[in-house]
This record gives sequence, structure tokens and C-alpha cells, in this order.
Amino acid sequence: MNGTRVVVLGAGIVGAACARELALAGGFQVTVLDRGGAAEATTAHGEGNVLVSDKGPGPELRLAQLSRRLWPEALAAIADGPAGSANGPSGSADAVRAVEWDPKGGIVVATTEAGADGLHRFAADQRAAGVRAEVLDADALAAAEPHVTRDHTAALHYPEDAQVQPAAAAAALLGDALAHGATLRTGCEVLGARTRGGRLTAVRTAEGDLAADLFVNAAGPWSGRLAARLGAPVDVRPRRGDILVTAPLPPTVFHKVYDADYVGAVGSSAEDLQTSAVVEATRGGTVLLGSSRRRTGFDDRLRPEVLAAIAAKALRLFPGLAGVPVMRAYGGFRPYVPDHLPVIGADPRLPGLWHASGHEGAGIGLSLGTARLLRDLVRGTEPEIDPAPFRVDRPAVLGALAPSEESA
Ligand SMILES: Cc1cc2nc3c(=O)[nH]c(=O)nc-3n(C[C@H](O)[C@H](O)[C@H](O)COP(=O)(O)OP(=O)(O)OC[C@H]3O[C@@H](n4cnc5c(N)ncnc54)[C@H](O)[C@@H]3O)c2cc1C
Repeated sequence: MNGTRVVVLGAGIVGAACARELALAGGFQVTVLDRGGAAEATTAHGEGNVLVSDKGPGPELRLAQLSRRLWPEALAAIADGPAGSANGPSGSADAVRAVEWDPKGGIVVATTEAGADGLHRFAADQRAAGVRAEVLDADALAAAEPHVTRDHTAALHYPEDAQVQPAAAAAALLGDALAHGATLRTGCEVLGARTRGGRLTAVRTAEGDLAADLFVNAAGPWSGRLAARLGAPVDVRPRRGDILVTAPLPPTVFHKVYDADYVGAVGSSAEDLQTSAVVEATRGGTVLLGSSRRRTGFDDRLRPEVLAAIAAKALRLFPGLAGVPVMRAYGGFRPYVPDHLPVIGADPRLPGLWHASGHEGAGIGLSLGTARLLRDLVRGTEPEIDPAPFRVDRPAVLGALAPSEESA
């Protein structure tokens, strides 16, 4: 592997995490390329939950559990700085502070009898898969979240859920990759491929060709479009999500709190609007109210009816938020794959091309496990979790791209 040249296509959190793993592994010359700036696309337009609570037993949960273990390890290593680094640990420690890592835990609240039954069944399956899920009675819930609705039928506490500030997290990962020898090129769009003997040998950009031995497609919701430009399309599409941000409030919400039908909305493939209440505070005191899911291509207009639906559901969970000023709203595009699993691995149709994409609403949390898996696959070492469910040549990934979304 000595001197294997790798170009990571996309400087969002997934590209940053992949670049860091490969740079730390040694033996790779890593370049990260982005048409815009680092971490300014989807990674800067979501929330920063690092969740196990919303995942049922299966490959995504295993990737989430691996990632959850890696987050504190990676942040501690970044804070220490690279051995013998002239940058010194203090700059790295500042970068890690900005990440706002907060293992605050999640609380899921059901408000109907059917919701309570479903939540308890879901939690029982998760416990069998190693997730900590603790039942909260009414008193315990009131102690943990004094402002949450009293009108609930069940509540579960997931102590492993955590939160980061996503753009700062990506910056910290990328900064560490750079400190370990990676280089970053921004404002450089990938337009096409150069191949030799059926192998991808260079990407064509507006600034000329960039040759390498391996290319990692980490272009988030644009991964489908980028892969098509390279001649190996994958079915990754945008799935819009919007968030309302309140003005800074006195401490009101202490965990990540969401309603039990959130898991159903995440797992649904419906094109029309899905909303469920997801409420959490940030370190700055603002409260984020989410979330919505819509498949509308790359249409980035905010819709009043979507924002109204998000607000209404949040108020059902936290009635006391009525009257609180909303400061702004924003949204982004989750990288969606029809079977709701990321795409991680080599592209069997085009040697030299790898993918690390399609994380939908969990790419912040899953970035570290994805990067670790990718590193092991590239090096040919045994990964900690089974990579097969994430492989590129599965029907959901090699299906046709929706033309309207591709051309949007
Ligand atoms: C409303 C909302 C809430 C969310 N909440 C959470 C959450 O709480 N927890 C969580 O884990 N996840 C959450 N997510 C999902 C998470 O934000 C994404 O899964 C994650 O940011 C994807 O990161 P990425 O690096 O794959 O993509 P991106 O951050 O989009 O990065 C891709 C990069 O590729 C670049 N690129 C694209 N095309 C090209 C090209 N042709 N040439 C060069 N560069 C190119 C882009 O400029 C971009 O910088 C949320 C998303 C949304 C929208």
C-alpha cells in the first residue's frame, strides 16, 4: 500500500472521516476534493445526533454501534494531536471543544396505546442486539424532562445517544486528516472520468485531470450524479429535511427527545411529506425542532406547510414551546438509498472507484464507522462488522436514477 494515491470526492463529514482514517492508516497519499468548501453542504444543513435509539437490529445498527464507540476515541485522539506535531495539541483541543460532543442520551415518547406497544416491542429487539433502553415511568420522565407532555403512554431512555455540532465535527476530522498529511482542494468540481483498461485512473475537473489509484465517492446526496459522471451510476437521491430553530431559551430540553413514530418516518420510503417530532437543545441555548422528510429532488425552497407541520408536532411533545420565538428555519438533502442502507465498498463495475455514501438521516453519526469499514476494505483486512449489507452491487443501489432528480 505504500504511497497509494487516494482522492476522496466530497469534503462533507463522510469524506472527512474517510480521509482521516486513510491518512492515519499510513501508506496512503490522501487528497480531499470538493466543488465547494469543506463541510458546507448537507453536513452543515442537518442536526448532529449520533443515535442508536432509532435503529432496529440489523446492519445499520451494527454500523451505528461501531460509530458510537469510535466517536469519543476519535475526539480524544484529535485533542491529543498527531505525535510530534508542530501544530501542538492546543489547536486540536480547541477544534474538539467546538465539536460540542454531548453524550446526553435520547428519550422516545409514545402518546398512544398503539405507539406504546410498538415502542416496547422495538426496544426489546434492540436490547437483544446490545442497545441500552430503559423504561421511564411518569415520575422518571418528568424528572428527566420537566417540560415534556404529561399526555404520554410510554417513554424509553437511551443513554448511548449523543450529539455533536456537525460542521465542527467534520472540520475536526478533516483538520486531523490534514495534520496527518492529507491535502484539501476546494472549489474544484469533478466533471468526468479518465479510464485506462477499464480502470478509473483520473477524474476530470475544471482545473484539469487528477490522477490517483483509488477514488472514494463521498458526494452525499450528489453521489448518484457524481457516480453517473464517472460512468458507474448508483441510486442515491436527495430526501429533503427541514428544521426550525428557536431563539436561545433557558434550559428547557435536556435530552434528544422524539416521538415514537419518528422511527416509522425514517424507515418509510414515501415521497410525500412525513413529519415527526424531534426536539433537542444546542449548547448555545437554541432548540432545534425537526423533522420532515420529502422527496422533491434538489428543490431547496422552504415550505410554510412543512414548517407548520413540524411546529405542530413539536408542540404536542413540548406544549410549553408555544409562544417561543422561532429565529430561523433551514433544510438540507439527506442522501437516500431506496433500501435505507449506506453504500460502502468497491464498485465492481469500475475498478479504482469506491463509494462511501447514502447515509440518509444518519451520516453524521455513521461517518466514523463508515470510514473504519472503508479503511479495512481498502487495506484488505478483516472489518469489525460484516460489510456485505452495504455492498455496491445490491439491487437498491444499482437501480435506475430518477431522471427528474438527476437533472435537477
Ligand atoms: C434536516 C436534516 C437533519 C439531519 N439530522 C441528522 C442527525 O441528527 N444525525 C445524523 O447523523 N445525520 C443527520 N442528517 C444527515 C446528515 O446530515 C447526512 O447524512 C450527512 O451530512 C451526509 O454527509 P456527506 O459527507 O455524505 O455529504 P455532504 O455533507 O453533502 O458532502 C458531500 C460533498 O460532496 C461535494 N460534491 C458533490 N458533487 C461534487 C462534485 N461533482 N465534485 C466535487 N465535489 C462534489 C459537495 O460539495 C459536498 O461538500 C440530517 C440531514 C438533514 C437534511
